[in-house]
Amino acid sequence: MTGHLTTVAGVPVDTRHWIGGERVASAETFTDVSPIDGGVLGEIARGTAAEAHAAVAAAKAAFPGWAATPRAERARLLHAVADGVERRLEDLAVVETADNGALLRSHRRGVMPRVAHNFRFFADWLLTLDHEDFDTRGHTNHVSWDPAGPCVLITPWNAPLMLATWKIAPALAAGNTVVLKPAEWTPMTASLLADIAAEAGLPAGVFNVVQGLGSEIGDALTSHPDVRRISFTGSVPTAKHIAASAAAQLTPLSLELGGKSPLLVFADADLDLAVELAVEQYDNAGQVCLAATRLLVEESVAEEFTRRLVEKAAQLAQGDPRDLSTDIGPNIHERQLEKIDGFVQRAIAAGARAVIGGHRLAGRFYAPTLLADVAQDSEIVQEEVFGPVLTLQTFRDEAEAVRLANDTRFGLAATLATGSRERAERVTGQLVAGTVWVNCFFVRDLQAPFGGSRHSGVGREGGTWSFDFYCDLKNTVTAPKGWQENG
Ligand code: NDP
Repeated sequence: MTGHLTTVAGVPVDTRHWIGGERVASAETFTDVSPIDGGVLGEIARGTAAEAHAAVAAAKAAFPGWAATPRAERARLLHAVADGVERRLEDLAVVETADNGALLRSHRRGVMPRVAHNFRFFADWLLTLDHEDFDTRGHTNHVSWDPAGPCVLITPWNAPLMLATWKIAPALAAGNTVVLKPAEWTPMTASLLADIAAEAGLPAGVFNVVQGLGSEIGDALTSHPDVRRISFTGSVPTAKHIAASAAAQLTPLSLELGGKSPLLVFADADLDLAVELAVEQYDNAGQVCLAATRLLVEESVAEEFTRRLVEKAAQLAQGDPRDLSTDIGPNIHERQLEKIDGFVQRAIAAGARAVIGGHRLAGRFYAPTLLADVAQDSEIVQEEVFGPVLTLQTFRDEAEAVRLANDTRFGLAATLATGSRERAERVTGQLVAGTVWVNCFFVRDLQAPFGGSRHSGVGREGGTWSFDFYCDLKNTVTAPKGWQENG
């Protein structure tokens, strides 16, 4: 670590904010550590309201120029950012793994290519964004997507750059300018992205990064009168706080929150596939908002399903996420581990049975856990754990399956394992969820709407829905008459 530069997994990373095309320091810093071994990764600028306001001011100043930049040029620049992400893919992958402990092989093969794709997809979508004019008694209606202004984007630590760029790309494509506030546990790749954006030629102030603690700088960003959109991914309590703060200016919000999604396994399902789907829920050490953490299994196959699941889960390799044979890495932070274990121990004290796991392991690891004998109204069934903890419940018929599936305050996703197309259609129609997967999991296309119902979120992003959110939609009605003869 020298001055404002630190080295993470061999990659130099600037620890300051990125505001108006310049690196900006703060008087104080906070320490970022790696979940892999607890080693210090860097001392990061600890933003205050002053830096938050400076970033919004930079975004406001850059907005008119960026909004007026022709669509084709904006798209070209976003593709240049994607090129930069691809050029630095290995740097981004190793830094992200060091910072959040997720698997290096996933970052290399899936996540970072997806980061580049986020930019390419929304750049290309922008060029096709159109609504056919329509006629009202001879008057022409023309719908346009006007850039809204500076956007504040606030993101969590479980998939830092993936989730940030899924907001940054459409916000910028739409002609807005951006202030990103990454999670304090994972500040690193946002800083690298600032370098990449600058190298790609994004004008100063179009993309800004403010580092710091949400509890300290959040309000300065979310209640700011010059901010035109807030997109947040994170927990329900923080979302409520942000919604209240944004209410001061009636700033439109997009909220992508937690979940307690079900995996419904019907007796007519391919049981091996159902078990594979269940085991996938331990991915990223269970730190996935979409994870189907409630296994709901038809009574007649529950015993066999559980036997196969236990067998399969025992094969998961838990360890260093840099080792390419590892399946499950560490959990993000000591505080998160305490939270996970608290949920599990309270559930066991209340009568749950740990079929597997149920305890911490050395370091920042939690044993993949399956809890049976859980009551529908218990905390472990109702609350998001955000760790490798699944619950197992059985149902007698379809009606009971749907009732249990819908009986939480969340509605992010649901997964079905069934061999019957008719059943899949019937059940899907009754589920409260933003995304339903049938005999598959985590297949996500950027053109699809994404978001949650109830406490899982407000609004949808993806494809045109992203532009609807990040733009002020305008309808222009033009009369057929009234033109000057020579006009
Ligand atoms: P938090 O809500 O704690 O934090 C999310 C972000 O909000 C962080 O950047 C945090 O900063 C910031 N923040 C904290 N307080 C404030 C505030 N007062 N004002 C403004 N910003 C603030 O969530 P976690 O980071 O713990 O993330 C886990 C949660 O995210 C889970 O509930 C998970 O389900 C959800 N999630 C949802 C997804 C979805 O798409 N639906 C995807 C991934 C995760 P700081 O880090 O400094 O506290």
